[in-house]
Amino acid sequence: PLKMSDSVADNRIAVCVRKRPMSKKELARKEIEVITIPNRDHVIVHQPQVKVDLTKFLENQKFRYDYAFDESASNEMVYKFTAQPLVRTLFDGGHATCFAYGQTGSGKTHTMGGDFTSGAKGAQQNAATGIYALTATDIFKQLHNYKGFTVGCAFFEIYGNKVFDLLNDKKLLRVLEDGNKEVQVVGLSEDGVQKEKDVIEVIRKGSAVRTAGTTSANINSSRSHAVFQFILRKGKKVHGKFSLVDLAGNERGQDTGNADRQTRLEGAEINKSLLALKECIRAMGRKSNHVPFRGNVLMQVLRDSFIGNKSKTCMIAMVSPSMSSCEHTLNTLRYAYQVK
Ligand code: ADP
Ligand code: MG
Repeated sequence: PLKMSDSVADNRIAVCVRKRPMSKKELARKEIEVITIPNRDHVIVHQPQVKVDLTKFLENQKFRYDYAFDESASNEMVYKFTAQPLVRTLFDGGHATCFAYGQTGSGKTHTMGGDFTSGAKGAQQNAATGIYALTATDIFKQLHNYKGFTVGCAFFEIYGNKVFDLLNDKKLLRVLEDGNKEVQVVGLSEDGVQKEKDVIEVIRKGSAVRTAGTTSANINSSRSHAVFQFILRKGKKVHGKFSLVDLAGNERGQDTGNADRQTRLEGAEINKSLLALKECIRAMGRKSNHVPFRGNVLMQVLRDSFIGNKSKTCMIAMVSPSMSSCEHTLNTLRYAYQVK
């Protein structure tokens, strides 16, 4: 039986790391594992021992977080220590947010439960055991205590600093900010949901649209941020929101140099939004009144996540275990460390 970590439940910001198991491909290549999680708040990176220049020899690096999950952790366990404590925030009238951060292939979509690409049966299973669905279950458990409240889901993608509606065939939507700095995504779909099955259907629909086709005209999902929102309403008025964000692969922010112009521009955009995100979460941690949104659409649409004393955020930084991912893993671990 697990005890809820106080730091995750009570802090406004919690930062966790999840290491995925070695994949079949990595095992087939006989890759070396470089990540160990010796206890529940530490991650150790065993540096490849480059002996070319002894002055550059690096020691094993140790990072500390609110919680570190090793490869044996299930989605359910990760959920319990990250998103679950924030469900209360939604009913308290705040804005809860959970970010999945990490390089492409590290397990962001798997953790959220948006993996509808890997074949019908496994996909259905992943959706049902991911953080989207687990959050839904807990919301519906609470909902009957709140008379006159309803829940809706929105699911959209941010790509190249633009918003596309995943529940309406990737329609391009405008983001408006009024004089009071209220942000509105004009015409964003919101599907009413009454039970877990309805939410799974929203995930299925949106994920199918997200990953549809592989032609250049379509967005590569590793280069976009996917935002899944539960919107709790009392009558027509928004009472609280829970945003679950499957971020673009952080390695895409380094697409520079040899890449073509389009890829470089996309990379720069991703880099900018991930840096802005880090600054916003840090500002929130300092209880600063000045949150640096920097004209960034991801920050704009999540504005309420970073302001107000009822907002709470958690970040799950995903890492791949293998040597070949070591450089990206270190970037991920440093970023997650700096967020707090
Ligand atoms: P990302 O969204 O970060 O690019 P994915 O979620 O698509 O990565 O994960 C890449 C692959 O690894 C997928 O095939 C996924 O099923 C698998 N995977 C990721 N995390 C886990 C895990 N904790 N346990 C088992 N398989 C995982
Ligand atoms: Mg993904």
